[in-house]
Amino acid sequence: MEEGIITNIQHFSTEDGPGIRTVVFFKGCPFRCKWCANPETQQFQPELGWSAGACLKCGSCVKQLKKYNISIKNEEISWDSGSSSRKLPSYKDLELACPTKALHLIGKKYTVDELIKILLEQKPFFDETGGLTISGGEPLAQPHFALSLLEQAQANGIKTAIETTSYAAWDTVANIARHIDYYMTDIKVMDSDVHKEWTGLPNQKILSNIKRLIQEFPHIHFRIRTPVIPGVNDNPTAIKAIADYLKPFEKRRKLEWELLKYHRLGLPKYASLHRPYPMGEVELPQDKFEELHRLADSLFKSII
Ligand code: SF4
Repeated sequence: MEEGIITNIQHFSTEDGPGIRTVVFFKGCPFRCKWCANPETQQFQPELGWSAGACLKCGSCVKQLKKYNISIKNEEISWDSGSSSRKLPSYKDLELACPTKALHLIGKKYTVDELIKILLEQKPFFDETGGLTISGGEPLAQPHFALSLLEQAQANGIKTAIETTSYAAWDTVANIARHIDYYMTDIKVMDSDVHKEWTGLPNQKILSNIKRLIQEFPHIHFRIRTPVIPGVNDNPTAIKAIADYLKPFEKRRKLEWELLKYHRLGLPKYASLHRPYPMGEVELPQDKFEELHRLADSLFKSII
């Protein structure tokens, strides 16, 4: 039975595809986007997280989990963040040590059967268009698990969606796409050097996969998303370059382009993981975003 590592399962989502959905967040991503709002999904292994607001500063974790080098300094819990998963406490040990779950493990293994059972419990709440969304992290980075989950979901009459970078070998992307109804993917910036500088990887594979997907999978509804990020693509040239790439598909049914405004909602998660926030203090003014949105609207028919 295929097993995968998951950071979170979110029910009743209305933000991750059409209708009411259950979102399964895969753990692990090959990219390191500096603006990532879900840093807890980047590493492939389980890791420790700490929620300051839930912590009683009682010191129970320090006493009971001595061998994991947990300490309290300046009212903050810290640990050796270089620890491999072998050195992490178990769920049970953490539950016994921390009364509030302030200190917790991020990343849990699930089998496909376990997830299908959860999805079937939720199925009565999915409306006509809702269903399962696999997200991340990067679902394509656990391709066998993702494929098996999608196959089983469809076999049980559950509609499927994906949020992905589209960064994988074409065969992997195509195998997954055969079991997807609604496909959400980013085009962050067309200049591959800029892409690599801000995300860690170039974009040629992504652009080629998206083009082929749009051409070869007419049944899929595509939502192309561009997060507008200060210093990366918050200028007319970058937005126009993406519009030029999408222009040949403008008349295709079931294809939209969405511009998303940069936000800093992931900031507390970086604190909880004891990692610095790579974007520093930058903001994207609302009027600048609206100006770029108007530009996109003038260049492409289906803009969200
Ligand atoms: S056991 Fe939990 S609540 Fe107590 S200090 Fe540790 S993290 Fe905070």
